[in-house]
Amino acid sequence: MNERHAGAPGLVKEVTSLANPLVKDIKALAQKKFRDQQNAFMAEGLKLVIDALDLGWQIRTLVFAKAGRGNAAVEKVAARTVAAGGTVLEVSEKVLVAITRRDNPQMVVGVFSQKFLALMDIRADNGDVWVALDRVRDPGNLGTVIRTIDAVGAKGVILVGDTTDPFSVETVRATMGSIFAVPVAKATTEAFLAWRGGFSGLVAGTHLKGAVDYRSVDFSRGPVLLMMGNEQQGLPESLAASCDRLLRIPQAGRADSLNLAVATGIMLFEIRRGALKLEPIVDQQ
Ligand code: SAM
Repeated sequence: MNERHAGAPGLVKEVTSLANPLVKDIKALAQKKFRDQQNAFMAEGLKLVIDALDLGWQIRTLVFAKAGRGNAAVEKVAARTVAAGGTVLEVSEKVLVAITRRDNPQMVVGVFSQKFLALMDIRADNGDVWVALDRVRDPGNLGTVIRTIDAVGAKGVILVGDTTDPFSVETVRATMGSIFAVPVAKATTEAFLAWRGGFSGLVAGTHLKGAVDYRSVDFSRGPVLLMMGNEQQGLPESLAASCDRLLRIPQAGRADSLNLAVATGIMLFEIRRGALKLEPIVDQQ
């Protein structure tokens, strides 16, 4: 392993061997066991890494491809990493492919410390929208929901029960960077129900047997907690009973239900409709 001075007051380590211990540690982040052990996760792409740093996430390691040497934006991120006490690795294509498990990897990968919001630290004010996901299983669904929460300006997500890992590579990819903008809390069902007892706003559950059309509800008063059910089983009785309303999105056709992330998107745009003040898009053709 060679070392050279970066434009930053630190060192860039040049790594070409898959046997390098730093590379092995990063590769291991593909598995939840090692993410938990290291309390870390990986995010791919220069823009994502810059956004993460801007939002105050702690970077541990910056990995970039040889092709990034001399690239002003990469050098700047490298300098920020060193200034934050992180390590910078310049790696061969082979190493980057192994780390990302992709044939055409992004030029830059960042390893960050995981961050969860404590349930007790959630303060919901008027106009705030939080989403609770019951036992979400699919990383693509979770990532898409986090991205949508970001897009509509909702406040964050609470993962209830045994869920897929928000810091898995698949989930982080699906968030398209929103993992850094959206606070994530997690709780057992019991802890969540205890916390819900102190939630002063409207708790809106969604259910295929919901008696209320989601378009008929006034979401403009106070904070809203939107509760979404597990992909296979929907909301269990204990969570459904804790909702003020059980809402249904009417469907036509033969599909039993909507995909979880799609249903969450429809609900969030309805709940935030007033707040978004969307201007009609004028057709200029
Ligand atoms: N078989 C499951 C069931 O019986 O609930 C289907 C779950 S669905 C794939 C996942 C979640 O998306 C549901 O628990 C609910 O929160 C939401 N959802 C999907 N379609 C919906 C609809 N038409 N109305 C209300 N919520 C819906």
